[in-house]
Amino acid sequence: MPRLGVLTSGGDAPGMNAAIRAVVRTATSYGWEVLGIRHGYAGLIADDVVRLTARDVGGIIQLGGTLLHSARCPEFHEEPVRRRAVDTVKRHQLDGTVIIGGNGSQRGAYDLSQSGVPVVGVASTIDNDVFGTDQSIGVDTALNIALEAVDRLKTTASALQRAFLVEVMGRHSGYLALMTAIGGGADAVVIPEMETDPEQLIADIQASADRGKAHAMVVVAEGARYNAERLIAYFHARRDRLGYEIRATILGHVQRGGAPTAFDRLLATRLGAAAVSELMAGHATVMMGFRQGEIAATPLDEVVRNVKTLDLRLLDLARRLAT
Ligand code: ADP
Repeated sequence: MPRLGVLTSGGDAPGMNAAIRAVVRTATSYGWEVLGIRHGYAGLIADDVVRLTARDVGGIIQLGGTLLHSARCPEFHEEPVRRRAVDTVKRHQLDGTVIIGGNGSQRGAYDLSQSGVPVVGVASTIDNDVFGTDQSIGVDTALNIALEAVDRLKTTASALQRAFLVEVMGRHSGYLALMTAIGGGADAVVIPEMETDPEQLIADIQASADRGKAHAMVVVAEGARYNAERLIAYFHARRDRLGYEIRATILGHVQRGGAPTAFDRLLATRLGAAAVSELMAGHATVMMGFRQGEIAATPLDEVVRNVKTLDLRLLDLARRLAT
């Protein structure tokens, strides 16, 4: 009986469980056996595997996190360590492995493929920084959580005539911050892709006060040079010029927990099922993503060689609407 491995790696993203479920049930429906590898690449090195049946993945489609646990495993950068992972694949006679994770995990998948292991990646990260997919698993949920937080903060900000800085995750990418700013109707946004002058932000906040707005909302990406911590220090030193009292809220990992949205469940399910189909068809060394409304495979070497860029026209949109 052919045998498939599946693992989740790197930062967890809501929808990973839905992807695992789809991988297991698609494979078992074709008579393949599935082994779940726990704790990402660390588990592949340590041979931490469990058999997964269709029943084992019942009741998880609506859960955040990952049944298989995830991990960061810096040792995986080293070739001799990766050889132990290849040994695990051989020991269990895996005919293919599905790797669900973000940029780093797809690099690891590419490295494994260079050792002759048939792998297919599934794009999964709330940062939305993976090349080859318009949207990764988890982004929609994280964005909805950030928007809910912005909506709530606006209510209290209005009541007290305050300005709020809201820092959202995204590592080096400003995608989540920019989309949160547009969807949440923020007055300003700070992203790593664009140099920010804090004096300009003070002018934006002052302009909001001058227009008579009851609050001002600035969304900040965690990866920006002026993140919330640096900005709040800058603003406190100049508080008399702002026109509002200012507070900072760092959303952090709150954004990653909770139930995946309908969009993420469906995306994860389709990508997981498609990954298995690709492996069964003998098309390894690709990553499954979602491009222009379709499920699409991108060669892993393209995924790791390219950087996904942010559409900066959306920054113009955010600024134009902040009046
Ligand atoms: P994500 O997959 O969410 O981007 P990381 O960047 O932390 O998360 O990567 C997850 C794991 O993938 C790392 O801990 C490491 O085991 C593996 N990995 C990352 N980069 C590489 C690389 N260049 N070569 C091999 N493995 C890598």
